[in-house]
Amino acid sequence: MALSSRHSARADVNAVVHAHPVYCTSLSILERPIPPIHYMVAVAGGSDIRCAPYATFGTEELSANALAALEGRKACLLAHHGMIATDMSLDKAMWLAVEVETLLR
Ligand SMILES: [Zn+2]
Repeated sequence: MALSSRHSARADVNAVVHAHPVYCTSLSILERPIPPIHYMVAVAGGSDIRCAPYATFGTEELSANALAALEGRKACLLAHHGMIATDMSLDKAMWLAVEVETLLR
């Protein structure tokens, strides 16, 4: 993801956590979003947490897919890969990453 496009795309984001936790990665392999199964889904910013379509790691295509899945959200899954959680601080983004994995577990 190019620094300039990230800044122009999400001025509300200062920190990004990217990881491959077991439950997030498992659902991402099924290419499924997280539906509104629990009120804590809303901590990611909406009624669901999307799964970005697969693209090769490190590509502009993956960046575009992730940004689309993060529209109006602070977290998303990456198909056949893992997850991303964002926020204004690294502490908050890490808290959200753990919360998303907890929801799926
Ligand atoms: Zn990764």
